[in-house]
Amino acid sequence: TAPAIALPSGLGRRTTRQVRVGDTRIGGGAPVVVQSMTNTDTADWLGTAIQCAELARAGSEMVRVTVNTPEAAAAVPRIREHLAKLNLDVPLIGDFHYNGHRLLADYPECAQTLAKYRINPGNVGHGKKRDEQFAQMIEFACRYDKAVRIGVNWGSLDQELLARVLDDNSHRAEPAPLGAVMREAMISSALESAAKAEELGLARERIVLSCKVSGVQDLIALYRELAARADYALHLGLTEAGMGSKGIVASTAALSVLLQEGIGDTIRVSLTPEPGGSRSQEVIVAQEILQTMGLRAFTPMVTACPGCGRTTSTVFQELAQHIQNHVRSRMPDWRNEYDGVENMTLAVMGCVVNGPGESKHANIGISLPGSGEAPAAPVFEDGVKTVTLRGEHIAEEFTAIVERYVAR
Ligand code: SF4
Repeated sequence: TAPAIALPSGLGRRTTRQVRVGDTRIGGGAPVVVQSMTNTDTADWLGTAIQCAELARAGSEMVRVTVNTPEAAAAVPRIREHLAKLNLDVPLIGDFHYNGHRLLADYPECAQTLAKYRINPGNVGHGKKRDEQFAQMIEFACRYDKAVRIGVNWGSLDQELLARVLDDNSHRAEPAPLGAVMREAMISSALESAAKAEELGLARERIVLSCKVSGVQDLIALYRELAARADYALHLGLTEAGMGSKGIVASTAALSVLLQEGIGDTIRVSLTPEPGGSRSQEVIVAQEILQTMGLRAFTPMVTACPGCGRTTSTVFQELAQHIQNHVRSRMPDWRNEYDGVENMTLAVMGCVVNGPGESKHANIGISLPGSGEAPAAPVFEDGVKTVTLRGEHIAEEFTAIVERYVAR
């Protein structure tokens, strides 16, 4: 057990073993990795490949797929081939429950294709079978040189282990409160499984741990304890975070506190998509958490004022949205052509009160006219007013200015 290190700046990272997943590195000083998971039936290899591609293009640096049936296992190599045709080499992670040992044995191409196996110690089996089946999965990880995430989840905690921890607690002179006992059960499940995996020959540099719960304070307390007890790389995520703003706020609150303390080497924001909504939203939220905290930069950030009684139309909100969408859609090309473009800042402001000041602080900014102001929108580039836009085509003209700025 190595001590955790949380630097006082809050932006230092805890020291962990570095884990290689395909060409991606988790922990050990590597940037915090964004990952996500498909919600398609993996047996539908084309539908799953399309969603993997969508997630990868949105910025997911690893994509997990459910591998729950022989058909799903057989689909994994086809998904990989399709992604290769699209020049996408995002590592694929297989999510196994109950029958992973059999699927890895029966589908060696699947075992070989996946870059990491996710094993939930609560869903491997029971009693002696549990140990055998867990050992089989670890042996495949060793044989194919794959990373493993030992992913404990509150909703599927190993019941035998929970009973043991509860029993131990009841025999203490001063039993711990239930919340602390639950945390202990989850952490024990992760650490004991990791220790078994190491005994079976899997290097510590091939193991990532996670302990997911759905309560923000529970997650923070759990990961603080876990981080203090071992130096494994950690996957952070609030499970079943929920829909819409609730899911985003809960995930952001939990992950930000931990990231600020240097805890967390890879993150997933588990959002329930709105019906018909895009799966990529969880990738964008994860990126925005890391970028707004100053831990990584993915895409130029647009500062926009909230608007108030001085804005009598929605023109400036529409322009802010248009510019954010534009820079996001241009990033795949820009990233290849222009070093550091992701660090650029933009401002779209609604009136003269804060508009010029905020626009001057951005690399490129525009201050639209508020009510009662002359119909003129000054544009600032690196703090200097370069042009004033007027008329019907401000959005198109400002977009062209942004393009020219980036190219320059
Ligand atoms: Fe209102 Fe102007 Fe401030 Fe925007 S910048 S919130 S429009 S006062």
